[in-house]
Parts: sequence; C-alpha cells; structure tokens
Amino acid sequence: MNYELKSAIFPGSFDPFTRGHADIVERGLRLFDHITIAIGVNEQKQGWIPVAERVRALREYYSDEPRIAVETYNGLTVDYARQQGIHFLLRGLRTHKDYEYELGMADVNRQLDSDIETVVLFTEANLANVSSSVVRELAHFGHDIRPWLPENLKYDLLL
Ligand code: ADP
Repeated sequence: MNYELKSAIFPGSFDPFTRGHADIVERGLRLFDHITIAIGVNEQKQGWIPVAERVRALREYYSDEPRIAVETYNGLTVDYARQQGIHFLLRGLRTHKDYEYELGMADVNRQLDSDIETVVLFTEANLANVSSSVVRELAHFGHDIRPWLPENLKYDLLL
C-alpha cells in the first residue's frame, strides 16, 4: 500500500451498479487517487445478480481505469478498510432517508475505528431517483433497465 496515495473504499451491494453509483465513483476520483469498489457479501442474502457476475461486469466496465479496483468483502466495512490500510469510505446521499442511515453508519464506523472517515457526496439531482431496488423492481416486471445503468456496463442477464 502506498500511503502517499489517497485511497477510498466505496462499499455497497451494487445489485445492480447504477448510473447513480457510477456518478459517485467519477466524482470521487476528483478527491481520491484510487477507489476500491467493494461489494459486501452477505452469505444469508444471495441477492439478484450473483456476486461473481457483479464483479466480472464491473471489472470489465472499469478495465481502462487503473484508479479503480473492484473487490468483494465479508463482514464489517471498517474491518475490511483496516485490513486494506484505507482510511476513507466513500458514500452517496440522495434523500433525507439516506442521510439518517449514512449518519448512523458513519458514527458507528468512527466509534469502531477512529481512523476511518466517511466522505459523502450528494447525488446529482437527475439521478436522485436511481436506486438498485427500483432497477430490480423494473426488471421483475419486464421493463428495459438499460437506461438506469451506465451505458457500457454489460451484465450477462442483459445479453
Ligand atoms: P447499500 O446496500 O450499502 O446501501 P448500495 O449499493 O445501495 O449499497 O449503495 C451504495 C452507496 O451508493 C450508498 O452510499 C448509496 O447511498 C449510494 N447511492 C446509490 N444510488 C445513488 C444515487 N442515485 N446517487 C447517489 N448515491 C447513490
């Protein structure tokens, strides 16, 4: 780990990764030299897109961007960050509901490890309604979800 570089972890489920997520990553790269998109794996909850496919598609999407890594982790985000020697967590904020959740998480994480700071970026107004759960619901009812996803992100379920 090069401590000269400012690195952040962008933790989430990314099931699927949306244009909202991509926007946070893009703007995050103005603040950080390197961002690890870290997909939290919960063995109890399999999710919609299999984790291996979430990783594959995102690695392909960011294959020309050396400042982005895509990884998975189990357990608490702070433990993963500590293991990686990374002190910043990047998160996005859409609504007051996100605010309350993010504030609580950031407080708990700082209590668990005072070296960890959460950096929150506000959503772009036109992306405020984009969420993974809305995309899953649209897919469930047979709608085309491509407009909600970054243009060149190719999950195998879309092929
Ligand atoms: P989690 O399950 O941890 O909430 P998500 O994959 O849903 O993970 O989201 C990861 C992060 O991206 C969260 O901080 C969430 O608020 C943020 N995010 C999701 N959608 C958007 C959006 N449209 N604009 C800005 N931030 C977003």
